[in-house]
Amino acid sequence: MGMDSWPSPPLPALPAPTSPEPLKLFDSASQQLRVAGPQLPDPDNPARMYVCGITPYDAAHLGHIATYLTFDLVQRYWRDAGHTVRYVQNVTDIDDPLLKRANRDNEDWAQLAHRETRRFAADMAALSVIPPESYIGVVESMSDVVETVDKLLADGAAYRVPDGTNDIYFDLASAPDFGYESGLDETQMLALFTERGGDPNRDGKRGPLDPLLWRGARVGEPSWPSPMGPGRPGWHIECSVIAVKHLGMQIHVQGGGEDLLFPHHEMSAAHAEVAADAAPFARTYVHAGLVGWEGEKMSKSKGNLVFASRLISDGNDPSAVRLALFGRHYRGYREWESKDLALAEQRLNRWRAAAASPAVDSVAVAPLLAELRSRLADDLDTPGALRAVDLWADAVMVALIPGDTSEPQPSMVAASAIDALLGVR
Ligand code: ZN
Repeated sequence: MGMDSWPSPPLPALPAPTSPEPLKLFDSASQQLRVAGPQLPDPDNPARMYVCGITPYDAAHLGHIATYLTFDLVQRYWRDAGHTVRYVQNVTDIDDPLLKRANRDNEDWAQLAHRETRRFAADMAALSVIPPESYIGVVESMSDVVETVDKLLADGAAYRVPDGTNDIYFDLASAPDFGYESGLDETQMLALFTERGGDPNRDGKRGPLDPLLWRGARVGEPSWPSPMGPGRPGWHIECSVIAVKHLGMQIHVQGGGEDLLFPHHEMSAAHAEVAADAAPFARTYVHAGLVGWEGEKMSKSKGNLVFASRLISDGNDPSAVRLALFGRHYRGYREWESKDLALAEQRLNRWRAAAASPAVDSVAVAPLLAELRSRLADDLDTPGALRAVDLWADAVMVALIPGDTSEPQPSMVAASAIDALLGVR
């Protein structure tokens, strides 16, 4: 089971850390830094991460890229620390936005989903993102989703609205811990639920925030058979089912962009916990901040998107794109400016010159490696990590004796460290 993802970038081996620092990440639920991943590397206890994938109806923009690069650093850090990593990402290959776009363009929805999924994979490969171990579509997971919705209905945690549509909603009254992930109050929840596609005022719902689990078949929409009647799933239950099926409960990291925290991640966790009668869904809920462009959040509705594929086809070095985003911390709001890319190119050229310099071996690399690891372990402090490489590159360039034309014999350790940990080469 699973879709084709994309080829893995080369991952250079590094001298193993003598005592790896545990990775600490900011957990949205407890609002504090928490150790993310198993205490010690153990092949029988892999580090398990689920990151929400794309809804493939348009090209990925920098906001998406920033999120997937963030969790790429998590995977890279875990691997370097010796963990076995189980990383699952989904593809929401059936949902309202996809059908809407397919209708608008008079295109087959499945064909649109396939094309955009491949385009996203090409972006990820170009940006040296390590692929998830399992890349799972919703359509191929339909029988699992149906089974869970059917169970929730049988358990009394879900109900049909009595209007003949056969739409099924999740009863949030069955989830006593609901709200623990976002920590929002009822008013804030209602506002976000409404803004992000929810239907608080629909007749027949028991609670205004109850989310849709199963949408009964409509004329002109694809549907799948089920004991509840034909239809298709709501968004939150898809991620919930795919994550639990492939990773189990108490996963180490559930990740995504900040705009997924509520309602999407909160609802996914509630679905999983009620269906499994166990908690928590995840031990750490990690959210990447949004990316802005000229003072505004990047979004389709504002039409101010910077597409990854465009940046790359315009001839920008993918390593520079990574560096430009890593120049600011993943949790903050990152304003993208054209000059970021030019500055990142300069930085990249300086690092490459240092790595190829005849003086590269005159500067000890162990402190650089230790500092890189230490900065990343501290909630992915990429600005700190980049400064550490800057200092190392400065030291190499100072050590370079003018006029020395001897052949460089780089140990490659510095370049390998930057590549393995940051995906920059
Ligand atoms: Zn999701």
